[in-house]
Amino acid sequence: MPSSSSAGAETGTLFVVATPIGNLDDASPRARATLAAVALVAAEDTRHTRTLLASWGIDTDMISLHEHNEEARIPGLLDRLRHGEDLALVSDAGTPLLADPGYRLVRAVVSAGLPVRPIPGPCALVAALSASGLPTDRFLFAGFLPARSGPRKAALAELRSMASTLVFYETPHRIKAALADAAEVLGGDREAWVGRELTKRFETHYSGSLAELAGRFATGDEEERGEFVLIIGAAQAGAPATELDADAVLKALLAELPASKAAKVAAKLLDRPRQELFQRCLTLTQGG
Ligand code: SAM
Repeated sequence: MPSSSSAGAETGTLFVVATPIGNLDDASPRARATLAAVALVAAEDTRHTRTLLASWGIDTDMISLHEHNEEARIPGLLDRLRHGEDLALVSDAGTPLLADPGYRLVRAVVSAGLPVRPIPGPCALVAALSASGLPTDRFLFAGFLPARSGPRKAALAELRSMASTLVFYETPHRIKAALADAAEVLGGDREAWVGRELTKRFETHYSGSLAELAGRFATGDEEERGEFVLIIGAAQAGAPATELDADAVLKALLAELPASKAAKVAAKLLDRPRQELFQRCLTLTQGG
């Protein structure tokens, strides 16, 4: 149902407040003033946020709101908003909801017709894009890639034909493997960029092809510390689509095996449903 909201006198407002991703001076005066003025701050980690707020002399009441208690917190927070209290939502770093908790709360507040206001500011993906030199007109933010290589390669294969710049968050112990898998699945000649420790003392940017960056991270260990954003250039027009690759695999298998066996083997290779591949086998054998 369509709804609209405006900050009103009777109900409170939920402020979604961006906090620094490293450099504390990146907190806006408006973010600090909001965190000082609200009745309660809902924070991903109250200890972390308490330290941050204390550094600015702010002592607002706090409640935890993380992946495991977000749903349970919602009714109480809606109640407080309905009673006219202003609330703030923050995560450990950057903009809440971006690979961070808060989506379920914001959705519930919007659905209840209560006002939500963003206090924009730091966000690692936007900071990275703005400095990478890769096209920003069309991008896809895919959050964190899966931890294990098989699912990670399958996730990359799904993105292979996207005509958008690809943006990922990465952890220090997985950046090396992610670059190696990306070079293998997307092709080593794609342009890429890695931003490490953005806004912090040891901020470093790495530019090059995926193959170059994979090679560089495979040999150095200094790079394996800190926080990372990985950006990969878009697929070029005419690059092979995932669908065509699936067909190539199926055709090769169908030359040796009956359709049911070919579908079974392809399902394992491509990490796709066997039934769907079996149907595709039938289409291919009928000349589709
Ligand atoms: N909500 C945050 C934001 O707005 O960017 C991101 C939270 S997410 C759980 C944390 C990930 O963001 C890190 O693992 C890293 O990939 C990325 N990140 C956060 N701060 C960063 C920084 N200073 N430099 C590079 N990457 C950073």
